[in-house]
Amino acid sequence: THFGFKTVPEEKKETLVKNVFDSVASSYDVMNDAMSLGVHRLWKDDFVSSLKPGVKGPLRCIDLAGGTGDIALRILDFARENYADRETSVDVVDINGEMLKEGYKRFKKTMYHNTPQVAFIESNAQALEQFPDNTYDLYTIAFGIRNCTSVPDVLKEAYRVLKPGGTFACLEFSKVTNPLFNMVYDQYSFSVIPIMGSILAGDRESYQYLVESIRKFPSQPDFAQMIVDAGFATGGMHEGKGGAWRDLWGGIACIHKGVKV
Ligand code: SAM
Repeated sequence: THFGFKTVPEEKKETLVKNVFDSVASSYDVMNDAMSLGVHRLWKDDFVSSLKPGVKGPLRCIDLAGGTGDIALRILDFARENYADRETSVDVVDINGEMLKEGYKRFKKTMYHNTPQVAFIESNAQALEQFPDNTYDLYTIAFGIRNCTSVPDVLKEAYRVLKPGGTFACLEFSKVTNPLFNMVYDQYSFSVIPIMGSILAGDRESYQYLVESIRKFPSQPDFAQMIVDAGFATGGMHEGKGGAWRDLWGGIACIHKGVKV
């Protein structure tokens, strides 16, 4: 327990995650802005622009735990705005149909609707049986991997569906490295976020789960090691240029990358 909250047992995780996202789907985008004070947008912009989709020609992308399509939309916009690329495509994959429905509705208002540039597919990141080997140039997963029961299984499937030379990129909440900043952040996330969840979305427990899942996720170097264990090259195990990860805002979030060799 932490600040009096009960921890969720691992075996209940899958059902819980399903329920959490069912109940937050319609309020998800609003809550994301409220809880992160809009900062998730900056992180997602940073994440996608660091991948430069379209720079070397159109890409076939898969966005796991794609939810309402935040990353997919940024990938398509980035390729189009910077390289006049209208051939890059993104398969948005999520375990939760409600989240995908919100994404589909949102894409209806964009120029990508009814084009081969986007598709919404329900599937579990840990078992992508419907997707063949060596298919994609880019695999992204943003704020999704920590909700999965088995991170190694997710990485294994990511490796399998990527083409050789393809990139795995993950944006996730991580560990704040500065102890003082960490104390402030802990207080904020464990007290403010569940309260906001109950006020804005009428759902304290779901948001409490989200906060807990952040604490349980492996540290930057541990996660980097898992990526290497799955077969990816990370350009060395150290933080910095060409390294396995890059912290955002002192480690509140972090970008990890790997290349299929
Ligand atoms: N990527 C989106 C974003 O950044 O806004 C959505 C992130 S949301 C916090 C997490 C998403 O992960 C939810 O839509 C949830 O349904 C999905 N998810 C959880 N477990 C999953 C799994 N095993 N396979 C695929 N998606 C999963």
